[in-house]
Amino acid sequence: MSEQLRIGVLALQGNFREHAAMLRRLGADVTEVRLPHQLADLDGLIIPGGESTTIGKLAALYGLDEAIRAFPAPVFGTCAGMILLAREAVDGTHGQPLLGLVDIAVRRNAFGRQVASFETDLDVDGEPEPVHAVFIRAPWIESVGPGVQVLAEAAGHPVLARDGKYLVAAFHPELTDDTRIHERFLDLVREEQGVRA
Ligand code: GLN
Repeated sequence: MSEQLRIGVLALQGNFREHAAMLRRLGADVTEVRLPHQLADLDGLIIPGGESTTIGKLAALYGLDEAIRAFPAPVFGTCAGMILLAREAVDGTHGQPLLGLVDIAVRRNAFGRQVASFETDLDVDGEPEPVHAVFIRAPWIESVGPGVQVLAEAAGHPVLARDGKYLVAAFHPELTDDTRIHERFLDLVREEQGVRA
């Protein structure tokens, strides 16, 4: 990596430590974000999996919801983070807080009780080898807007997608040794830096 990228990980609840470890492995300078001012000067942000209602309520409490809406750089949301970024949650908890930044509708806990958590190999657009993916009480993408690029599907539903400077995954790429999905996010960050330069 020529210049070290500064990537924030929203550290209110959930799997932020695992994302931070993966990003450090890839050479990024990582900031755990708990307050809005910590977003300043970051090149990108990851919103981890966990519990989307809890993360959303805590984000609103600290003013991070408005700060993330105003954040100019790329954002990657995984699992609960994908739900938070979505425009709409189908069958969401009443009052489910959403950031509404990605033109997708998501279904929470979509894979059902019987297969609440599972692992599978995904064919990911542009990857010659399948990506082993861990799903934990995962959402899927129910519908996408016209500008959204679907990058992988599971059970016939999109589970990895890009909408401009946003990347969303229904699974947990931070829980395997495979760094390819995080590398794609860092590529997106560099690509957007080129666009904004
Ligand atoms: N089911 C959780 C939610 O709706 C997401 C699960 C996860 O992030 N692993 O918030």
